Amino acid sequence: MNSKISRFSVDEIRSQFPVLSQSIRGKDLVYLDNAATAQVPQVVIDAISEFHGTYRSNIHRGVHTLSQRSTTAYEAARATVQNYINAEHVEEVVFVRGTTDALNLIAHGIGAGLKEGDEVIITALEHHSNIVPWQIVCERVGAVLKVAPINSAGELDMEAYKALFSANTKFVSVIWVSNALGTVNPAVEMIKIAHNFGVPVALDAAQAAPHLRIDVQALECDFLALSGHKLYGPTGIGVLYGKRDLFETLPPYQGGGDMIEHVSFEGSTWAELPSRFEAGTPNIAGAIGLAAAVDFVSSIDWAAATAHEDELLRYANEKMGSVPSLRLIGTAADKVSVVSFVMEGAHPHDIGAILDQHGVAIRTGHHCAEPLMNELGISGTARASFAIYNTKSEIDTLYNALLSVVDLLGLEEVG
Ligand code: PMP
Repeated sequence: MNSKISRFSVDEIRSQFPVLSQSIRGKDLVYLDNAATAQVPQVVIDAISEFHGTYRSNIHRGVHTLSQRSTTAYEAARATVQNYINAEHVEEVVFVRGTTDALNLIAHGIGAGLKEGDEVIITALEHHSNIVPWQIVCERVGAVLKVAPINSAGELDMEAYKALFSANTKFVSVIWVSNALGTVNPAVEMIKIAHNFGVPVALDAAQAAPHLRIDVQALECDFLALSGHKLYGPTGIGVLYGKRDLFETLPPYQGGGDMIEHVSFEGSTWAELPSRFEAGTPNIAGAIGLAAAVDFVSSIDWAAATAHEDELLRYANEKMGSVPSLRLIGTAADKVSVVSFVMEGAHPHDIGAILDQHGVAIRTGHHCAEPLMNELGISGTARASFAIYNTKSEIDTLYNALLSVVDLLGLEEVG
């Protein structure tokens, strides 16, 4: 075992997440809904609490001490994120509400330059937040949304993706890791292909962020979106990265305070990046909390943590493969931390409700990927998703709870 891996202790990690040590319905909580929202470590709770308890104040333009302190902390949070994702310039990091907000901002900005007949490429794996904003802007101007297909394992068909490009292609906006299936898309290759056609790319990194290291310069992506709450940070805060030259060409998304240079009744001029895209009082506590989460993640032996997550996935696949009537959905060769499944004869919501009786939290439904479910010919799945603090013994609990679903609903005969 290499020395880095030996430094990772799941018990030590777990002890930093207060929410995990509680009982649900008399059973130890087994939290396997991390692809919806991960939990926060104490350092994040402390950072938010310190802001509210000692220096809460609005940022920018304040001359008093508290305002200067909160401004410093907010801008330090931006630098922390810049460093974490390896952005070249700090102004390339814009704080937003989350991935949904980021993708709407991009679609709005890119959409302003689209005209009838232009094409935007997405994939069949997208979350609704990377479908609907594009539908709205494409419909407005008569542009066309092209969808790269997947195979039955839930992997992108790269040949078909490549074949979608034409002289009309103006933008690509794609998911890096599928929240519904766990599929990891070959982001670097996808971006290279798009750039060969002269087309910029946005990456939805919401589900990638907690599992893959992000280096925007190595990826060469033009935009990247992520949500704090999936990266052990607060809700209501996220990051939009944009390459400076391209970002600067986008029109403002929202108007208001902070995003302007000058305002008169005759007209207004815009602030420079990043303020141009941060209208109004931002989620200051959220940004500070997100920076604490990034510091927390940075302090972990990442290789060991991802090896741990991979082992959890392997173990879950093995155990769940032996549950009668259970069929795994999404069997991509490159997958992270998500096990989606159906059980013949059981509605996913019933599976979720029975598991809750065992203290096991999973998510059921279409996972905001209804078109993907349609492609797969199902209405939804039950989904267990793992984080660095999960354990093999929790997967055993999941497995036993699934056996009780089989028993309770008499699935053995069906399967
Ligand atoms: N994209 C993906 C891949 C996601 O997993 C999510 C959240 N489930 C989103 C986008 C939307 O993120 P948010 O709800 O934080 O805006």
